Amino acid sequence: MTQIPGIAPTTPPSGTGCVECLDAAPSGWWFHLRRCAECGHIGCCDSSPAQHARAHAEQAGHRYIQSFEPGEDWFWDFETDDYYEGPQLAPPHHHPEDQPTPGPAGAVPDDWKHHLHR
Ligand SMILES: [Zn+2]
Ligand SMILES: [Zn+2]
Repeated sequence: MTQIPGIAPTTPPSGTGCVECLDAAPSGWWFHLRRCAECGHIGCCDSSPAQHARAHAEQAGHRYIQSFEPGEDWFWDFETDDYYEGPQLAPPHHHPEDQPTPGPAGAVPDDWKHHLHR
């Protein structure tokens, strides 16, 4: 298998939710989740209040993410700011189906739509 710099296909995801949002409990919450293709860090998307996936990419220098949403398998390259055709990563490929979006349960404000980035 060809090695792609910045992608570690055998590294599992860090968990089922955004690492930094869960650290900030009970105030942290996300809209959609993204998985770092290099270290497995799960972070929240650019529409989420804290945009932790992008922050992780900048801080760690890890350029590729894959969606961690059920039914989505696209990659994004933060260096080209475009979609990317990545390889199959280690499972699981998305957060649990019964995990709410936005999440996590109990931390999302009623007016969450007003807190999204557009
Ligand atoms: Zn987050
Ligand atoms: Zn990473």
